[in-house]
Amino acid sequence: MNKNLREIEKYAEMYNIPIMQKSGINFLTKYIRENNVRNILEIGCAIGYSAIQMALVNDKVKVTTIERDNERYLQALKNIKEFDLEKRITLISGDALDIELEDKYDLIFIDAAKAQYIKFFQKYSKNLKKNGVIVSDNLDFHGLVNQEEHIESKNLRQLVDKIRDYIDFLKSNTEFTTKFYKVGDGISVSTKNE
Ligand code: SAM
Repeated sequence: MNKNLREIEKYAEMYNIPIMQKSGINFLTKYIRENNVRNILEIGCAIGYSAIQMALVNDKVKVTTIERDNERYLQALKNIKEFDLEKRITLISGDALDIELEDKYDLIFIDAAKAQYIKFFQKYSKNLKKNGVIVSDNLDFHGLVNQEEHIESKNLRQLVDKIRDYIDFLKSNTEFTTKFYKVGDGISVSTKNE
């Protein structure tokens, strides 16, 4: 291994690429370790930071991850190679809403365009194994979800409304039970009801 995670964090900071907060990724990797998660689907790879961290939990973990931005996709390929994880991380280039996957996963991690979260959840819940979970990040959206009155930009307010819609969708979903955690930027874990 000739690259370290700190270098990816620095690159993300330098080029303004959103990656998971430390406490969020620690929560996710702890969940993977404690629940013996093996097969993961990630929607929103960016430059591979969270995919690499998840794959590093142990050598049984396999990650499939999707990224639609070509520059980030290429950087992620490079990072995955530098960690020697090409055999355990499959990177797919494209829009997650256009891609069809047959495989089933223990954990599906949604960390892509916030306005599309309901669509990602509806599209990919068929790819969840029995007893699998769907984890979503950014449900606090930098603290803005509970402080809408302070948002002046119309676009930002619309985005925050979409996240609120997603939270309502999760709370009222009768097929899944969702727990919300105030870690990182706000994480939810949705489990399919028996
Ligand atoms: N999970 C990454 C990490 O923590 O290292 C960060 C992902 S970043 C927050 C979100 C990424 O999702 C962006 O790079 C964006 O290009 C990608 N994205 C957004 N919508 C997408 C879509 N519909 N399909 C695939 N990728 C998407």
